[in-house]
Amino acid sequence: MQPINEKINNVARGLAETLGFLFNPLLLSIKGENSQLLVFYFHGLYQSLGQRDLNHIDPQKNMTVSQFNDFVDYFLNLNYTFIRPEDLLADLDTHNRYVMITFDDGYYNNMLALPILEKFNIPAVFFITADNVKENKAFWWDVIYKHRTKQGVSGLQIHNEQEMLKVYKHDHISNYINKNFGEESSIPWSDIDRPLTLQEVKILAKNPFAVIGNHTYHHALLPNYEKNEIEEEIARSNDFLRSLTGITPISIAFPNGYYNKLVLEVVEAAGFRIAFSAVPGKNNLPVDNSKLICLKRFMSNNNNIKNYGSFFRLGYTPGSLFSKIKESLHAEHKQEYLTGIR
Ligand SMILES: [Zn+2]
Repeated sequence: MQPINEKINNVARGLAETLGFLFNPLLLSIKGENSQLLVFYFHGLYQSLGQRDLNHIDPQKNMTVSQFNDFVDYFLNLNYTFIRPEDLLADLDTHNRYVMITFDDGYYNNMLALPILEKFNIPAVFFITADNVKENKAFWWDVIYKHRTKQGVSGLQIHNEQEMLKVYKHDHISNYINKNFGEESSIPWSDIDRPLTLQEVKILAKNPFAVIGNHTYHHALLPNYEKNEIEEEIARSNDFLRSLTGITPISIAFPNGYYNKLVLEVVEAAGFRIAFSAVPGKNNLPVDNSKLICLKRFMSNNNNIKNYGSFFRLGYTPGSLFSKIKESLHAEHKQEYLTGIR
């Protein structure tokens, strides 16, 4: 039987899409989004839905190339301008509405975005995890996802296993992966789950529409580290990217969006100008570029942008909206919920 919280999740998802579709035109007609910057983060791209069904990467965070194309088209039609991080350091006309595209992690499949960026003449930032590229290692969350899916483990249990590891440093996570799935488990299965090669990062960096950013050396969840370790994670990653591409990144995306005050201090002292969190929200313009600019980001998702994009633009994310709806539903089903799985 489907657990009650999974049922509630499904209902909430349905409601969210319907509401987004209804409220978007209404609210935007009352209040436009001028003088605001919306930043979205993407992870992997699929060539087709068939690739998704192979279960080589965790599908929750990924979308098809065609959905990505629709995403860009949607914002261009609404007169948003796509910008790159550096534009925030220059004179930007802050009366307009802006969007920024960011890709986290450094999947090879991100190369599929390039023809779309070229077609629409828009930039995107690619945050590269050095260690995975250097060692051609699959990302640990995908290793868990693909092996557990093969074993028939439920989506919820897979999610819990991934979340449980997020309080640790990379060496602990890496030992866990080797112990549970074997030393060979980090070998990618296909072009769907593999990271970029060294050569591909060079090619990407040469593309006029691509900006290269730091995502730490080991995809380090930075609040789990000491100060000197944080410094090393970001410096080593920038050294790696500089020696490979000749470019020194001035932007960093915190892995999993995790940061704290110490992380911000270290990043600013290291010379970074723009940091990207995963706190959902719009960014008001102008930004104060005399200090480190910390930008909020909305998560992308694989739903129909024409329904779902509306929600992002209203400052909601699936997470925040679902939890609100879930809270109210939970009040009704409290008894059942408490006896269900937690
Ligand atoms: Zn990441």
